Amino acid sequence: MAHRVTLIPGDGTGPELTEATRRVLEATGVGFDWDVKHAGVDVMEQAGTPLPDDTLASVRQNKVALKGPITTPIGTGFRSVNVALRHELGLYACLRPCKTYPGVRSRYDNVDLVLVRENTEDLYAGIEYEAGTEQAEQVIAELNRLQAKQIASGSGISVKPISREGSERIIRFAFEYAREHGRKRVSCVTKANIMKFTDGLFLDVFRDVSQEYPEIEPWENLVDAVCMGLVQRPEEFDVLVLPNLYGDIVSDLTAGLVGGLGVAPGGNIGPDSAVFEATHGSAPKYKGQNRVNPTAMILSGMLMLDHLGEREAAQRLEDAVASVIAEGKAVTYDLKPSRDDPTAVGTSEYADAIIEKLEA
Ligand code: NAD
Repeated sequence: MAHRVTLIPGDGTGPELTEATRRVLEATGVGFDWDVKHAGVDVMEQAGTPLPDDTLASVRQNKVALKGPITTPIGTGFRSVNVALRHELGLYACLRPCKTYPGVRSRYDNVDLVLVRENTEDLYAGIEYEAGTEQAEQVIAELNRLQAKQIASGSGISVKPISREGSERIIRFAFEYAREHGRKRVSCVTKANIMKFTDGLFLDVFRDVSQEYPEIEPWENLVDAVCMGLVQRPEEFDVLVLPNLYGDIVSDLTAGLVGGLGVAPGGNIGPDSAVFEATHGSAPKYKGQNRVNPTAMILSGMLMLDHLGEREAAQRLEDAVASVIAEGKAVTYDLKPSRDDPTAVGTSEYADAIIEKLEA
C-alpha cells in the first residue's frame, strides 16, 4: 500500500530540493501518495499566513511530512513556520544523524553518530523577561526575596525549564532509537555539575531510563568536554541525547564534522506525527538556479523511509547516494574540490545520477 505523506515544497530553493527528493524516493520502488501542501513566504500573501491551516491539518491527518526549507519572514509579525510546526504538532524529538561519506570534503572519516535533541523545553521554551520592564523587575524582586544570591535590577531574564516528563520521553526516544538501530552507546550531554536542578534532573532521568536498556552502554558527558571530544575523536561517539540548547549548538558542530549543512539530514518527531527536513535553510540567493545540493534533503527522505518501516529501501537509497558521492562525477558544485568546477551538475542531474544507481 502506498504511504500517504504530506509534501511541503517550502520556499527559496525548497521546491527544487523537494522535487529532486520526491523523484529519488519514488525510484526506490516504495509507493507514495503525496498530499502536496504549501507553507512559507510564497503563500503568505494569498493565505494571509505562512502556515495555512490545511497544511497543518494534512500533517496531522497523514502523520508524516517531508518538508523543504522555509524562510522565516522578518518584520512581518509571523514567527518561524519551522518552529510553529514543531510546536503545533508536539514534535519533541529532533533526530540528526551525522555520518561521513567518502567523497564529501571533511576533516574526518569514520564518523557515524546520531544526535537526539530535545525540542520543547530548556532556555528555548521562550520564557523571557526584557531588561528594564515591569515584569522583569517583578521577577527579580520575587527571586531576590527567595534567595540569598541577588540579581541586579535591570537584568534581562531567560528561564530554563526542564521537566522529568520532558526528559524521560526524549531519553527513552534515544534509547529506543539505539536499540532499534543496533547502536551500542548513548551519551547524555549536560552541564549537570553546574545546573544541578535542570541538567542534573535530565541526568538523573538518564540514569533511571538507562537501566531498562542493559545492552546499551550509558555515557555521562559534560557538554564542554563533548565539544572537545567530538573534534578530537568523533568516531568514539554513537548516539547523543541533549537538552534543547546544547542540542542546537552541538548539532551544528557535528554537521561540520561530516561536511556541513549540505549533507546534514534531520527529522522532527512527536508522539503522533513526524516531519522530515534538511538541517539547512532556504538558501534564497540560489532560488530557481538548479544549483544547490539536495543530499541533506534526500537523506532526510531516507530517514522518513526508515520511520515508515521501509528499512531495506532506506538502505538502498543511502548506498546509492554514497556511491554517487564517492564517484564524485555527477555531484553539485559544493561537493567538487573547487567551487567553480565546470563539471559540477545541477540539483536535478544529481538526483538523476542517484536514480540511475537505484534502477541499475
Ligand atoms: P541557509 O542554510 O539557507 O544558507 C546559508 C548558506 O549555506 C547558503 O547561502 C549556501 O551557501 C549554503 N547552503 C545551504 N544549503 C545548501 C545546499 N543544500 N547546497 C549548497 N549550499 C547550501 O541559511 P540562512 O541563509 O541563514 O537562512 C535562509 C532562510 O532559511 C532564513 O529565513 C532562515 O530562517 C531559514 N531557515 C529555515 C530552516 C528550515 O526550514 N528548517 C532552517 C534554517 C534556516
